[in-house]
Amino acid sequence: MREYKVVVLGSGGVGKSALTVQFVTGSFIEKYDPTIEDFYRKEIEQFASMRDLYIKNGQGFILVYSLVNQQSFQDIKPMRDQIIRVKRYERVPMILVGNKVDLEGEREVSYGEGKALAEEWSCPFMETSAKNKASVDELFAEIVRQMNYAAQPTGDEGCCSACVIL
Ligand code: GDP
Repeated sequence: MREYKVVVLGSGGVGKSALTVQFVTGSFIEKYDPTIEDFYRKEIEQFASMRDLYIKNGQGFILVYSLVNQQSFQDIKPMRDQIIRVKRYERVPMILVGNKVDLEGEREVSYGEGKALAEEWSCPFMETSAKNKASVDELFAEIVRQMNYAAQPTGDEGCCSACVIL
């Protein structure tokens, strides 16, 4: 079995952990314990300064914004630039995701805006809900499909689990 290194990027609160937890455990975490959440955010902040390093090690990238937060959609653009800069090539396995589609009434980013950005980047686009599990399995299946397509033999196959880095 191959190991897949997937990096999930996006600004705070867009649902990166909720999507990952939903995929891995099949459950949705509505509210974190504030203390645990605070601890968790600090970990992430520390990690952010190491972003170049984990982009370097990542093989597939899930770029997430919240479709109820226009700012998070703007935030995703420099993150994609950073991936291209670090990887030094354009066709990195990547997928653009608008999460929280269950909150349709509060939408700030239209489907068309997301789709247009993905077309500019030549990557697939999906709207998901970590809460309703909408398109969550499809999202991870698609990124794995892209990584398989892009895979060059590296000689380090043989491990057993998927590795998801938030
Ligand atoms: P992260 O900072 O990107 O990892 O975001 P979290 O996974 O911590 O999610 C931030 C907040 O948004 C939490 O309160 C989640 O319960 C909530 N959330 C995440 N995904 C969804 C979703 O698809 N729908 C709704 N309604 N809330 C979500």
